[in-house]
Amino acid sequence: IRSGGHDVEGVSYVSQVPFVILDLVNFRDVNVDTKNEVAWVQSGATTGELYYGIASKTQTLGFPAGGGGNTFGVVLAWKIKLVPVPPVVTVFTVNKNLEQNATKTFHRWQYIAHKLSRDLFTTVWVMKVNSSQVGRKTVLASFKGMFLGRIDVLIPLIQYAFPELGLARENCTEMSWVQSVLYFGALPIEPVEILLNRSALPRLSLKAKTDYIREPMSETGIEGFMNMFLEEGTDFAITMIEAFGGKMDEIRENEIPFPHRSGILFESVYIVQWRNEEDAGLCINWIRRLYSYMSSYASKSLRGAYYNYKDLDLGTNNINGYTSYEQASVWGLKYFRNNFKRLVRIKTMIDPMNFFSNEQSIPPLLSP
Ligand SMILES: Cc1cc2nc3c(=O)[nH]c(=O)nc-3n(C[C@H](O)[C@H](O)[C@H](O)COP(=O)(O)OP(=O)(O)OC[C@H]3O[C@@H](n4cnc5c(N)ncnc54)[C@H](O)[C@@H]3O)c2cc1C
Repeated sequence: IRSGGHDVEGVSYVSQVPFVILDLVNFRDVNVDTKNEVAWVQSGATTGELYYGIASKTQTLGFPAGGGGNTFGVVLAWKIKLVPVPPVVTVFTVNKNLEQNATKTFHRWQYIAHKLSRDLFTTVWVMKVNSSQVGRKTVLASFKGMFLGRIDVLIPLIQYAFPELGLARENCTEMSWVQSVLYFGALPIEPVEILLNRSALPRLSLKAKTDYIREPMSETGIEGFMNMFLEEGTDFAITMIEAFGGKMDEIRENEIPFPHRSGILFESVYIVQWRNEEDAGLCINWIRRLYSYMSSYASKSLRGAYYNYKDLDLGTNNINGYTSYEQASVWGLKYFRNNFKRLVRIKTMIDPMNFFSNEQSIPPLLSP
């Protein structure tokens, strides 16, 4: 089954066995009901089409990215809850490279970001860039944020709680919520019709991995992490580190399948990309080493992962034949923690023959 065909491991269009594709690409209606703050979104719609659909009806509702589903049947449309946003939000970017205290600033960010303000989302993007010294490279930590309010409220808030960031008025821009989506996609914020363009972003091959961090990393640990971006294979590598806290702390683990919320300081999304197929080995090798380096900083009891950024390195179902609960637990518990058992029970009830399956789908309990 393919909707957006955006799966990070390509499981919607790669198969080891003969297959037919059920392609939902043309099911892309978006119906926004502003009165009840919900939208019906057909499965083939992109998030861009959804955001555009919301913005063409109202400037005061939004939808945070994320969500999805497979394993249990064919989803034709989603009913999603929209969230209130102010007509004007403020976004900012403050760049610091290794020579400008990137390590120390990120070290401090870890202690503050998850409790700065319920109306503020912050993220740090780490990547390799050219240094001011000709022919040399450095590592950039780009501190970004989106505040559900105006500049005049944001600046004193950050200057008080996080003066090390050095946030100034020229780092900030006020815009509508839908424009902030384009800002974070590194796209021009006008015209917003670009959200309807399915090929606006460059197409590179990629491999991704994720972590949930509960304890701040040491400065030496951060230094080692950043220095890995100076190695080979990192020309198009990026790590997006997203602060948790706020509303995320209030939603119980078993409310939806995605369990990672309370007590988490931040989520790290490691991504490596390449243009030429011959670079794939080098790049994938690098991201595996980065992930291995981060193992001492990830949650000690059970290392978590985000199902939307599927990582087949964590293990896969058997291509032919039954996959046991124990075998699938290796990745299932990482993605879903205590919800995994419940998902397996539901699967056993509604699809005991495992008709809807993929490399990391939830297996039923009994062998068919
Ligand atoms: C560059 C990039 C950036 C991303 N950024 C984010 C992000 O910011 N936040 C985030 O949460 N995720 C992100 N993702 C991950 C993305 O959300 C997931 O890969 C998502 O599953 C893609 O949805 P899709 O409709 O394209 O899935 P597809 O590739 O079409 O399918 C994914 C899986 O779902 C099954 N499936 C597809 N359609 C249906 C259906 N209608 N009913 C039942 N099963 C179905 C497929 O068989 C397959 O197993 C990103 C991915 C990429 C490549």
